[in-house]
Amino acid sequence: KSVVAIVGRPNVGKSTIFNRLVGERISIVEDIPGVTRDRIYSQAEWLNNSFNLIDTGGIEIGDEPLLVQMRQQAEVAIDEADVIIFIVNAKEGITAADEEVAKLLFKSNKPIVLAVNKVDNPEMRDEIYEYYSLGFGEPFPISGAHGLGLGDLLDEVVKHFPQVVQQEMDEETIYFSLIGRPNVGKSSLVNALLNEDRVIVSDIEGTTRDAIDTHLTRDGQEYVIIDTAGMRKRGKVYETTEKYSVLRALKAIERSDVVLVLIDAETGIREQDKKIAGYAHDAGRGIVIVVNKWDTVETDEKAMKEYEDKIRAHFQFLDYAPVVFLSAKTKKRLHTLLPMVQVASENHTKRISTNVLNDVIMDAIAMNPTPTVKGKRLKVLYATQVAVKPPSFVVFVNEPELMHFSYQRFLENKIRDAFGFVGTPIKIFARKR
Ligand code: GDP
Repeated sequence: KSVVAIVGRPNVGKSTIFNRLVGERISIVEDIPGVTRDRIYSQAEWLNNSFNLIDTGGIEIGDEPLLVQMRQQAEVAIDEADVIIFIVNAKEGITAADEEVAKLLFKSNKPIVLAVNKVDNPEMRDEIYEYYSLGFGEPFPISGAHGLGLGDLLDEVVKHFPQVVQQEMDEETIYFSLIGRPNVGKSSLVNALLNEDRVIVSDIEGTTRDAIDTHLTRDGQEYVIIDTAGMRKRGKVYETTEKYSVLRALKAIERSDVVLVLIDAETGIREQDKKIAGYAHDAGRGIVIVVNKWDTVETDEKAMKEYEDKIRAHFQFLDYAPVVFLSAKTKKRLHTLLPMVQVASENHTKRISTNVLNDVIMDAIAMNPTPTVKGKRLKVLYATQVAVKPPSFVVFVNEPELMHFSYQRFLENKIRDAFGFVGTPIKIFARKR
């Protein structure tokens, strides 16, 4: 998916434009909880082009001076975006700070679309010509406050989207990524995996602009670890900012079959862990919870059970995800990880035949009759699996409104009881027949 970043000095109206673009003229395809709350990142769509939009103004980097922040925000945009929207303010003309940002953007090889904001009325349109001097071609007059000119701007933006080269995703290969707070041990775990006895690491090849995928084989199963480059390219200032690492995590999740959600046994479960796990869940990926640094904790069976209970209480929405305890440092229990990734991946792509599925559904209904709402009873006609990754089921009913959340949850549990689906979310939709 293409990434569009909004860049500009403070107070040119970046967040207003961002909110306009995701809120109105283009539809939000998927709300990512947590991320949209801090509103720096959203999925958006324009003319059948689905893309990710970043408001770099939301990336605050400590209490650095403004100029340093601006530079870092521009750096993030240049690194991450396919197209950059550079916003200036018509009411103030070109300022020294604009020129500063322009200089940075100019050095990048990314397509830049210049937007002159706060052009609130048509008479002001004649005044935008001075902005040609910034060197980014035609300036697009817009008004974030009034929602004017955004369509023309987006038309120009999507013209610059890279041609989608369909990535060669080998069906047999399991693509996975590791996400988690800084210092949970993501890089250590990748390195430990690559040095594991029974693992064969093949050439490291670049597949996308900014991610290097690592291929490995174990017990005849091929795996690709996504975006280890991002983990290895350490030390850059934005690597340590939470919002920036969220962005990286989201991009890695997008390409994964299975996501390993890492938790640090030493420091325990934090609110941020939950948020990070939520992204993988919402994306419908297979999930394995990995408790790393298990060497720092009492490692008897009882401790493990207690820790797992704690995880279950914190991550109720991940009740399907298996938990693996290991140490990247000592490699203890490391050998249990890839087989679990394989299980999650198999379930993530599992297909259930319509006959078998309907037997399970009809048994479930016999056991727990469908609800009646205002004198009308829900009738379930039949169910069928419509997709994998994650397994998705359509239940055909008389009136979809009668399908109560709790009943849907009941059916989901029955499907899980019957078919397992360890390590993957499943989706159920009620449709009218
Ligand atoms: P990342 O930011 O998630 O990539 O984390 P790193 O892989 O850089 O690890 C952060 C720190 O935790 C480093 O000092 C590692 O040596 C340490 N660490 C990683 N895995 C383990 C582990 O299994 N046990 C212990 N005791 N320390 C670990």
